[in-house]
Amino acid sequence: MEFTYRAYRDLLSLLREQGYAFRNYHNYEAVCRCVILRHDIDNSLSQAVKLAELEADAGVCSTYFVLLRTDFYNVAAKAGQEALRRIQALGHEIGLHFDEAFYGPALKPDEIIQNIIKESSLLAALLETAVTTVSMHRPSRSSLEADYHIPGIVNSYGKTFFQDFKYLSDSRRRWREPAEEIIRSGEYERLHILTHAFWYHEEEKDISQTVGDFIRLANQERYRQMAENITDIESILGKGEFYCESGHLSATLFSLDGVF
Ligand SMILES: [Zn+2]
Repeated sequence: MEFTYRAYRDLLSLLREQGYAFRNYHNYEAVCRCVILRHDIDNSLSQAVKLAELEADAGVCSTYFVLLRTDFYNVAAKAGQEALRRIQALGHEIGLHFDEAFYGPALKPDEIIQNIIKESSLLAALLETAVTTVSMHRPSRSSLEADYHIPGIVNSYGKTFFQDFKYLSDSRRRWREPAEEIIRSGEYERLHILTHAFWYHEEEKDISQTVGDFIRLANQERYRQMAENITDIESILGKGEFYCESGHLSATLFSLDGVF
């Protein structure tokens, strides 16, 4: 499967054709044949917004998990808030993407649970809506095996979502199993699919292009941030060297009405 929007749209169509109802972590039990779509936002909120819009166009709702403990984006800043509210307005749920590495290696299970509750409350305060779902960012083996029960919060790494569901993931831009074949086979009643919006574009890009473009784009973004915080930046430093001639990256950056 390609990592393009067209291919992702086709994946949604295939799920529908095969009779899978699109459900979330809270309402799947009423339906036998269903799929839960999950997206972990590890790097880029703007690409998550694009995928959220694509899904909404296709009449599909899913869950987007956001990190609080990351240097890549800031969910408390204006652009971050706009991105998350846009995703919510499209009908999707926002959950917490929890990075246990922030706390160091010696965290006990009850401390992990307490920190998930604390971070969910922080995110809920920022969003002014309840946050009732969590996924783990690069979970340790012990977290994968722990089956944490967290009061008021569904753990997407709970045993249910791996034992009662067929789990498929595009982590590191590679499907571990042939997702389309598995969906087409109809072999599994319940599917749990993790995709990362970061890997998907209008045209296919390989992993080096994807990561490289993202790093280069960061210079433009930083230039824009400086321009917003210092008078007449062009008299200090022209933007030419930060904006590529083709405008290709600029077009990517500015295609979201100021949401980055
Ligand atoms: Zn992650």
